[in-house]
Formats: sequence, C-alpha cells, structure tokens
Amino acid sequence: MKNWLEVSSMDRWWVDNVKVVDPVADRVFDGSLCVQDGLIAELREGPAPEDAPRLDGEGLHLAPGLVDLHVHLREPGFEEKETIESGSRSAARGGVTTLCAMPNTNPVCDDGPRVSYILERSAQAGFAKVLPVGAITRGSEGRELADLGEMHYEGACAFSDDGRPVSDSGVMRRAMELGRTWDALIMSHSEERSLSEGGQVHEGAMSAKLGLEGIPREAESIAVDREVRLSRLTGARLHLCHLSSGSSVEILRRAKADGLKVTGETTPHYLLLDDSAIEGYDTHKKMNPPIREKSDQEALVAGLCDGTLDAVATDHAPHTEIEKNVEFAYAPFGVIGLETSLAAVLTRLYHSKLMELPRVLALMSSRPGAILGGNAGSLEPGSPADLCLFDPEEEWLVRAEDMASRSRNTAFEGMTLRGRVRATFLNGSPVYRRTMDEGKENEVFTPAKRMQESAS
Ligand SMILES: [Zn+2]
Repeated sequence: MKNWLEVSSMDRWWVDNVKVVDPVADRVFDGSLCVQDGLIAELREGPAPEDAPRLDGEGLHLAPGLVDLHVHLREPGFEEKETIESGSRSAARGGVTTLCAMPNTNPVCDDGPRVSYILERSAQAGFAKVLPVGAITRGSEGRELADLGEMHYEGACAFSDDGRPVSDSGVMRRAMELGRTWDALIMSHSEERSLSEGGQVHEGAMSAKLGLEGIPREAESIAVDREVRLSRLTGARLHLCHLSSGSSVEILRRAKADGLKVTGETTPHYLLLDDSAIEGYDTHKKMNPPIREKSDQEALVAGLCDGTLDAVATDHAPHTEIEKNVEFAYAPFGVIGLETSLAAVLTRLYHSKLMELPRVLALMSSRPGAILGGNAGSLEPGSPADLCLFDPEEEWLVRAEDMASRSRNTAFEGMTLRGRVRATFLNGSPVYRRTMDEGKENEVFTPAKRMQESAS
C-alpha cells in the first residue's frame, strides 16, 4: 500500500478497498479504481491487482467529484469575501471538483479576456475546475447583449446575469436565439423585480409576524414561466437557477412533459430550512430567493425524487461578517455552501430514506455534469480522475470557524449533519484530505500539479 504523497507522483495506481458509488450505472459496489495519467483507467468489482501500487480507501465510499452549477467566487472585485483560490479550497473541502463561477464580479465577467482570466487563476490555484459563466448583457445591466460568441470561444460554460434578472424579455429572447446557434446553456436567475423589490423574506405568515417586507412566490414563478415560454419560442437550452418554490417546480414539470430543453436546480438551504428559521432575524438565513414554507420544501424534495429537478447546486454566496452582522434589512442576501452541500443533501434525502446513494450523488455530479456537457461527474474510463472519497455515516457539527471559505455565512451553523468528505482528487491528485492523527483531525490541501502546469 502506498501513501497519499507517493500516489500523486505516480503514473498509474489504484484506489483500493472502497464502496464505489456510480451514479450513472445507478449502483454501489465493493470495488477499486485505477488512475493513470490523471484519468480514470479502469473500474472494477473487487480488489485491485495484488502487485499494483495501491492506496487504501479504508472502506469509504468513492464517487465522482461533485459538480456545482452555481457558485459565486467574488474575484475580481470582492476579494475580502472570497477569492478564486479560497473558493476553490472550499470546494475541495466539500468534495466539489468542478464548479460554475457566476459572472457578477467587479468587473462583471462579460468578455473573452475576463473568461480567460478566471480560467488561468483557477488553474494556478489548482484546487478545483472553475468554469466561468459569462454575463448575458454588458455589465449585467440588462440592456445590451454581451459578446456571447467571444466568451464561448474563450471557454465560458454558460451565460447568465445571475444576481439580477434579465428584465427585458426582448433582450432575453435575443440571447436565447444567439446562444441557440451553438446550443449554449442559458442560466436564468428568475425574478420579477416589480414583485420582489424591497422584500427581505418569503411573503407569508412569518413575514407578517416579523414585520418584514415579503417576496411572494410569484416573483419567482412568473419569471420562470416567462423563461420557459421564451425557451419554447427560441428552442434554446434553459437552466433555471436556485428554484425555491413549489409553483416553479410545477412549471418545470410541465415544460419537461412538453419536451422542452429545460433543466432546474435547487439548493441545500431550501431543502433543509423553511421560513420558521428566520424567526430570530438571523441574517445567515437571508437569501434570494428567500427560504419559503414547509410545503415548498416538500414540493422541492418531491421534484428531486421524481426527476423534475435535475441538480442540487449551492448558490455559494460569501459575504463578510461585517456585512452580515447588521440589522436584517441591511444585510446582503446569500449564504455559503460548498463545504456543507454533500452532508446537507445526504442528511435530507438519503438518511431520511427518500433516495438511494447513487441517485443522491447523481443530483450532485453526473446530472449537473451532463447539463454542462463534457465529462465531469462520471466514473467512465477516460474521464478525468476527479473523485470524492466520503463517509456517508459520519456525523459532524457545522462550525463556521472551520470553513476554508474566506467567509463564514453558513445557514447551517450549529447543525449536526450526517455524511462527510474525507478526500478529494482532482486529475488524480489528492487536493484535499482529512486524517485522524492520535485523535486529532488534520486537514491537508495540496494543489494539483497537472492543473498548475496547464496554467503556466
Ligand atoms: Zn441568482
């Protein structure tokens, strides 16, 4: 048996003694996996060959690295909240190997050079594959289309004005028509601003009780409905971001039944929390769209179980303590999520016996991977050896102070979650691992050399 440092410098080696979770084949089995030159070379039932260099997986579960469709890395412009480097470390700690970086930085990622800047910076960091999302409109101001073709050429994985809706339907239509020519993915932050403006939390009994301005479900579902109609009109591939309400799930369900190329995601915080969580005016429960009612939570879970919703993404949105530590009305929207997403989703869907492990992992790896195209989220030989080694049973207490993210605004502070990442591999390199040395936890982050070499 080899140790972790040895394997990262070897050309061919095995992870042995693992329970393989294959979300595409929809099964879990005792097996081993061979890594060669940073790629998955072989997957087999049973142990690795006797004479081959092997790494002991300690009976842990091995799955494809997680693919997160919705992350805010804040660099350039808001480095006090997060950087590409700190956000990538945070991803590695959460088992996430590929993530989509939203363009609402300063400057907004709305042209080719800005797309390549993010690709370079993340390769230099070497902890996760960061796929830049290009803005739909210049400066995300909603008026003039950005140069989608140029950004696509430089490597943008999708287009979105996330953080802001594209309010002008004609502009959105033109973006979809243009994107359609190369089958681009349009990600929609669906929000009807005339209904959400000034709102702080979900509009309902709780907002009335707390005396906070509400945001009705319709602020989301009316916008979702428009996007679906525009997708039908243009034939564009549409992805609906951070869905929070049962009514939106219903629209997506119908769109899929009609055969439209529409997909949707929800986030861990909508699955674990409902609007009773805001009772103490905790700004770490303030996000946009807001956490809604128990019935919405149940509709989202049902949407994941019946395949209407395709993915769970984090909407990782770092904000500093200074910004969040203010009166509720003045706090920014958003919570971090990269380091807690697997545990949160396992706790909500797997440990409650609603879903088997491969299906849970599919929502967080192979299905978002398929939405992006390419080979992320797969254990297919020939795919990059981006892997997540985890213990689905380990219970742990979420503590903001332990986070690798530069920000501390988790919505799950103090919660005990079940399921925890032990190690993350990127292109076959162990970029994150957690060990127990004499009863003390030890975490090691090591950048993947292959990523860094490609950057230099
Ligand atoms: Zn958004």
